Amino acid sequence: MSSTTKRGQGTLCVHAGTRPDEASGGLVTPIHVSTAHRFPHKELTEAGYPRYHTLPTQLAAADKIVALEGADACFVHSSGLASIAVSLLSFLRSGDHALIQADIYGGTHHFVTAEFPRLGIAFDFVDFSDVSRLREAARPNTRLVYAETPSNPLLGVVDLAAVAEAAREIGAVSVCDNTFATPICQQPLSLGIDIVVHSGTKYLAGHSDLNCGAVACRAAHAERLHETTVNYGPTLNGMDAFLLERGLKTLALRMRRICDNGLAVARWLSAHPRIRHVNYPGLPGHRNHHVAARQMRGFGGMLSFELDGTAAQAEAFAARLTLIPQAVSLGGVESLICFPRLTSHAKMTAAERAAAGISDTLMRLSVGIEDADDIIADLSQALVG
Ligand SMILES: *Cc1c(COP(=O)(O)O)cnc(C)c1O
Repeated sequence: MSSTTKRGQGTLCVHAGTRPDEASGGLVTPIHVSTAHRFPHKELTEAGYPRYHTLPTQLAAADKIVALEGADACFVHSSGLASIAVSLLSFLRSGDHALIQADIYGGTHHFVTAEFPRLGIAFDFVDFSDVSRLREAARPNTRLVYAETPSNPLLGVVDLAAVAEAAREIGAVSVCDNTFATPICQQPLSLGIDIVVHSGTKYLAGHSDLNCGAVACRAAHAERLHETTVNYGPTLNGMDAFLLERGLKTLALRMRRICDNGLAVARWLSAHPRIRHVNYPGLPGHRNHHVAARQMRGFGGMLSFELDGTAAQAEAFAARLTLIPQAVSLGGVESLICFPRLTSHAKMTAAERAAAGISDTLMRLSVGIEDADDIIADLSQALVG
């Protein structure tokens, strides 16, 4: 099915990209793992090879993401960070400058600070919630602008259309990490962003059992991203591409449930006397709720909140939860909770965390597909203690 067919995202999740098995009549894309391919073969001008991103199983997963993001091309990789590295290294070289959103995923932050100096790439971390700062920080050699929205763990929201416009004026390629929103809730390319990256490990695969990533783009950037993929070699293998395509079939269904649960839990928490503050883009009190309401079709399942109490009381609360385990990662079918202070932001000093707005009682909740009543009941019993 072509990605230009006007079908709903629920239908695209099930059908787009899937390559039925002609030999057996099987409807499911077979798991292609061959590293050796006949050559010459029929009308092919190049032999198939997994690192070249030619396996039908890889193309099935990638084409599903193409359809969902409204993209022209997509490449699937062995982790989200592999896709992020491919997107950055495709468009930056020694002597260039990049503008990076200040509150981004810790692994991306670390990649930039550890690798860019070695490569001679200059960068500035900028608060993208005020796009005028982006223009102020631009230099003549600024080649790339990197955004993430909603962001981790405070669920900050950035106006992607404004970021894309500023990047165009600057003459830079714009990249957006769409992991938290997924294409079901937000399509950055339709807002003018050039490149979308995903940690497919989270919602796209969706079952907490697969490490993968994806980069989706317009035709103009496809060749460069493919070249970087082939040269650095992080292409997703056929077995895992199969799992990614399988997970994607239920993405729209899962996200609808996750958005409903996320809103229900955020509302319940924000009304609870022992909760000091809830960060969720779907709440009218969120600082950028109006931007989220404009550019998102659902507010997702990620939220964070602060307990009114001490760090020890917050930890005791988390320990009393029986349904929701304390665990890192997010975006799976099961609800998970963690303390950013102890996980994603553990490397920061207490002063740096305070400056970033990450308090000792801040907890991040990834709301799963369980029954909302059960998630709320678990939070409720643990708050009573
Ligand atoms: C997890 C995550 C990543 C990194 O993805 P991996 O699959 O772990 O490499 C990047 N961005 C965001 C927003 C994430 O949550």
